[in-house]
Amino acid sequence: DNRNLFAALRAAFPQDLDSVAVETDNGLHYSWRDLDRGTAMIANLLQSLGLEEGARVAVQVEKSVEAMMLYLATLRAGYVFLPLNTAYQKAEIEYFVGNAEPAVVVCTPGNFGWVSKIAFQAGTQHVFTLGDDRNGSLLERAAQQSDRQEPVRRTDDDLAAILYTSGTTGRSKGAMLTHGNLRSNAEVLKTYWGWREGDVLIHALPIFHVHGLFVALHGALLNGSRMLWFAKFDPKKVIERMPDATVFMGVPTLYVRMLAEPTLTPEACGLMRLFISGSAPLLLETFGEWKERTGHTILERYGMSETIMLTSNPYHAKDGERRGGTVGFPLPGVGLRVRDDQGNEVPAGEIGGIQVRGPNVFGGYWRMPEKTKEEFTDDGWFKTGDVGRIDARGYVTIVGRSKDLIISGGYNVYPAEIEGYINDLPGVAESAVVGVPHPDFGEVGVAIVIPKPGARVDGEEVISTLKSQLANFKIPKRCFVVQELPRNTMGKVQKNLLRDEHKTLFA
Ligand code: ATP
Ligand code: MG
Repeated sequence: DNRNLFAALRAAFPQDLDSVAVETDNGLHYSWRDLDRGTAMIANLLQSLGLEEGARVAVQVEKSVEAMMLYLATLRAGYVFLPLNTAYQKAEIEYFVGNAEPAVVVCTPGNFGWVSKIAFQAGTQHVFTLGDDRNGSLLERAAQQSDRQEPVRRTDDDLAAILYTSGTTGRSKGAMLTHGNLRSNAEVLKTYWGWREGDVLIHALPIFHVHGLFVALHGALLNGSRMLWFAKFDPKKVIERMPDATVFMGVPTLYVRMLAEPTLTPEACGLMRLFISGSAPLLLETFGEWKERTGHTILERYGMSETIMLTSNPYHAKDGERRGGTVGFPLPGVGLRVRDDQGNEVPAGEIGGIQVRGPNVFGGYWRMPEKTKEEFTDDGWFKTGDVGRIDARGYVTIVGRSKDLIISGGYNVYPAEIEGYINDLPGVAESAVVGVPHPDFGEVGVAIVIPKPGARVDGEEVISTLKSQLANFKIPKRCFVVQELPRNTMGKVQKNLLRDEHKTLFA
């Protein structure tokens, strides 16, 4: 049978194809039939171009339902989808397009001039435009195509997408994901998160990243569920629509922004059954405040571009409580283990590098065979680059990234541990601890602290308080109080920038 992921998603469309599949924040309604016909037409257009097997379709456009259909159409036509962050500028697009050599590039009408130049230089044959108001050459050309199309036959091992990582720790790498990777993960999550009839998803995430493109979108489609579609996240508008929805997925900053709205009340959450958070650590404070304000316990999960979802806090109470500060249990079918730097097992509860395997784990980085080899163990486990531990009950906690680990005077210092203590101090909203070079200790920690609105925090006092709580080698040598942390578009703190900024402090 055909293992094309699109075929599985299409099979889950509800009986009544004229019912609403997507409702947008500017009042448009798309039926399931619209999705089926639209994706068929775009797939036919792609197929009419006579592209090579495995051709990449690189896409940098604003979020729209048509952009989502372009993703589905690429699957449907059997090509490889390559989404690009809308924030990327010339130098970045040059890198990605040069690296991926897409046969087709789709960009916004406004960017056509410079994007097409870069694309044609890289050997791209076709550049289309897609605007956020159903305009542009892609849809004009697709409109001339038939609205019927048989999904191209694919196996589980055929490439479906290349997802460039967020570039939090260095240059982005293209993770090659297959139809089997995406499909197995979507099926597991459907069961694990209890998707059921009548569910309605609020989709307010960008669609160039695992969270919005795969976890949220596949979740709704595989369940035949309607989506309330937000082109941009707006906390007021999302809260306004919450009474009509049952599932919300967000990165931690979205929760923080909704908490700042007085309209967020238990009543506003109406029939909501599930709030999911991931992509970056959810502060315990946010987790606690959300429970207080709405009566709902956020379910935190953990994943990455290379693996899609790996762990999740339980949905059903019978499987355990949702524990703030943890990312829950490995999902069914996912193997997860913790190893030290030599690759040896660590005792339960101790910290080490997280390694994973499973049907969801990617095959390798696009055109980086060396890097791929480095990141897999000899027995086939993928080294996530995240550091964490598994407690006696099986809950996984992420304590940071191996690249952010500070080795001070020969001792390992885990930034997340120190940040936890700092965040508990009065007046502190959040913090980041990074390692910088030091002539005596090799490296020492530097703390960057963000005060709560209106609060005053003194860096010296932070350090002296920590001294009464923690071993001396863990104490940051300097503490800066600033107004905000540098974040990338996925809301992740860019510690590499902080390290750069402070690297000459002790040099
Ligand atoms: P790069 O690999 O280019 O440095 P990145 O790792 O940030 O960037 P992504 O694949 O988008 O790129 O993000 C995956 C990472 O996000 C994980 O490895 C992990 O560090 C972090 N992450 C995801 N979910 C959580 C979570 N719930 N708690 C803590 N960290 C998380
Ligand atoms: Mg990564």
